[in-house]
Amino acid sequence: MARTRVRAAVLSAVGAPLEITGIDLPATGPGRVRVRLAAAGVCHSDLSLSNGTMRVPVPAVLGHEGAGTVVSVGEGVTHVALGDPVVLNWAPSCGDCHHCGLGEVWLCANALSGAGDVYARTADGTDLHPGLNVAAFAEETVVAANCVLPVPDGIPLTDAALLGCAVLTGYGAVHHSARVRAGESVAVFGVGGVGLAVLQSARIAGAGQIVAVDVSPEKEELARAAGATDFVIASQTTAKEIRKLTGAAQGVDVAIECVGRAVTIRTAWDSTRRGGRTTVVGIGGKDQQVTFNALEIFHFGRTLSGCVYGNSDPARDLPVLAEHIRAGRLDLGSMVTERIGLDGIPAAFDNMLAGKGGRALVVF
Ligand SMILES: [Zn+2]
Ligand SMILES: [Zn+2]
Repeated sequence: MARTRVRAAVLSAVGAPLEITGIDLPATGPGRVRVRLAAAGVCHSDLSLSNGTMRVPVPAVLGHEGAGTVVSVGEGVTHVALGDPVVLNWAPSCGDCHHCGLGEVWLCANALSGAGDVYARTADGTDLHPGLNVAAFAEETVVAANCVLPVPDGIPLTDAALLGCAVLTGYGAVHHSARVRAGESVAVFGVGGVGLAVLQSARIAGAGQIVAVDVSPEKEELARAAGATDFVIASQTTAKEIRKLTGAAQGVDVAIECVGRAVTIRTAWDSTRRGGRTTVVGIGGKDQQVTFNALEIFHFGRTLSGCVYGNSDPARDLPVLAEHIRAGRLDLGSMVTERIGLDGIPAAFDNMLAGKGGRALVVF
């Protein structure tokens, strides 16, 4: 099969604006799957890749939270077939490394080994890399077979797209990392796509008080619709305000940080009770130094944990999430505050920087 041209959002260099242009995809080789995208969410990590906070080889097609339909499969691919609806999995596990052996597939040492591959070319013949493996900001993509998972029955592709990053991450932060138990109080910092998924997941876990924190007062309505019982506008006194809201001013049982900044991580930790747990989901830069003194670490007996991809195993967790969607406990449509085309992605980045809205969804 000859190469075919599709439209894509290309990052030519770190810091450059995304360019919407035609790219040429190769024929579907052995062990590869070609997917026609139905929808792709714009995640904060795409912004971080475009501005250099996170790095992958460039030029690249970004986009890692997507779903679509299989349009061709290469030799040896058996778990999906032509016409199947699939979720893209940007962090496929190899099954062979130390972490995969421990069952910690979200820490797979080889998850991003495909990011350096050349998967397509620009119209003038320049090599293109697939961003975080799956290059979802394009009408079609070609990925390794382990980067696609069948969409569970009855889940629309626009919902399935969000499962691929924001929802697996947010749900996993609550259920696998922080392990929120019924009746516990939870504070959620940052009401973007992941924060909204965290709020809904805390509600599913049966959390009692759920405090949402954001710099923007416009997020209150979205946060409350997702399960927040209280809303606090971020300020220098946020931790104190959260402690005041909780029983006997002890602080929340669990804080989940979805921003990735030193000040929010520190505030999240400060807002928990003695013995409380803080999970950091946000991805910050090396310049974000968080400091603690030795005495407070002892005195408060708190825990601070990192969390990668929600400590999720997509193959195990997607059917569980689908069940929550079918039962109406998880409402992914409410996370989407904007439906855009590929050319709307730069403006979606600007909104993210300005702290506006929930998830922007590219609908093809
Ligand atoms: Zn993401
Ligand atoms: Zn592995």
